[in-house]
Amino acid sequence: MKVMKFGGTSVGRPERMHHIANLVVKEQEPVIIVLSALSGTTNSLVEIGEHISKGDRQSAKSAIEKLEAHYRSFVAELLKNEETIQKANNIIAEHFEFLNIILKISFSEALSKDILAQGELLSTKLFSVLLEEKGIEHVLLPALEFMTVDIYDEPQIGGIKIKLTQLLKQHAKKKLFITQGYICRNARGEVDNLKRGGSDYSASLIAAAINASVCEIWTDIDGMHNNDPRIVNKTLPVEQMSFEEAAELAYFGAKILHPASIWPAQQFNIPVKLLNTMKPEAKGTTITAEAGSVGVKAVAAKDNIIAIRIKSSRMLLAYGFLRKIFEIFEKYRTPIDMITTSEVAVSLTIDNDSNLKEILKELEPFGTVEVDKTQSIVSVVGNQISLTEDMVKKLFGSIRHIPVRMVSYGGSPHNISLLVPAEFKTQLLQQLNKGMFGLD
Ligand code: ASP
Ligand code: MG
Repeated sequence: MKVMKFGGTSVGRPERMHHIANLVVKEQEPVIIVLSALSGTTNSLVEIGEHISKGDRQSAKSAIEKLEAHYRSFVAELLKNEETIQKANNIIAEHFEFLNIILKISFSEALSKDILAQGELLSTKLFSVLLEEKGIEHVLLPALEFMTVDIYDEPQIGGIKIKLTQLLKQHAKKKLFITQGYICRNARGEVDNLKRGGSDYSASLIAAAINASVCEIWTDIDGMHNNDPRIVNKTLPVEQMSFEEAAELAYFGAKILHPASIWPAQQFNIPVKLLNTMKPEAKGTTITAEAGSVGVKAVAAKDNIIAIRIKSSRMLLAYGFLRKIFEIFEKYRTPIDMITTSEVAVSLTIDNDSNLKEILKELEPFGTVEVDKTQSIVSVVGNQISLTEDMVKKLFGSIRHIPVRMVSYGGSPHNISLLVPAEFKTQLLQQLNKGMFGLD
């Protein structure tokens, strides 16, 4: 069995939805199709939730109306039979009625999750109606019946596997299954989600749970590229990389894949393929335990980074200093990305500022604390890059007139990270594209 996940742009237009319907019927193997919401929908739902939370019902109402109109015209273009059009319109009516009811009751965090879930529920149901119109036999699997997270919002593959296997057993002879990405049930039994972009994560969790032959992530670009195509003119797709390399790239900014989606595939050794819906014949990127080749493969950048430097004269020859510092970040559940030390100071970066104030207050007794906001991490990722001759020389030789604030090298053999003020990110990516890859 395999998993095929289609992102928002792959289902975001009626003709694209037809295109993927034609693509999935060609499959020989049984397949679970995981869908995102139509592009733009989750953003609109976030907006609607924000209006409601602020008590601005009028703005919420007009945003709901606008979104409903979008779905009505989508369906009008998507389907052609009287009967299926009616069915799709009933689905739309049901979900928008729900949003209009929410508008009338008092806001809660749990309700906002219910609002966000509407996108994937709609896309999968509409896709199911389209398959029905095309006479393609399939089963709609409700993700809320098997995708669960624990009290820490962490999915547990064991539990997902048990529930999903049971569901699949009820349809033993069927070959085509459709389910929602992104949405799940939390430990309190409420509707919840796997955070923005989480449909990739759903796909790899499902792939791990059913021990899939492959987890295909279909988007609108032919795989992971060596650099950000929105920032530099020329980029090339990377054909093969290891789970470690993909995890570094996804975590450090490559938007094509949700960073959490690597671990389930890696743990259960399921190959992940990044493919292009509009160019299905293109090779894309294959991610497996094997890296394929040695050397630098790609660069990626992550924004909104905060650098914190803690300078302490007491750190000199002291032990236990780093532990005490780390404990503060652990207490506030704030992950540290980069870290560098000198004998008297330690610099580290975080990207989550929700508890920054409290963290800084607790760091104060340890020495002088300096904070630099709006930084970017630019990561150079590859296989065994430390073994690549003159790599460091080439890397630093490519950089001109850029004040590098931190460098992290040797933490893993696959990554070198540079921290720069955000306004230098574009320039740095361009310089690296030329210096490291010979691309202009
Ligand atoms: N629809 C959700 C989002 O826009 C999940 C996803 O597309 O992966 O974040
Ligand atoms: Mg995505």
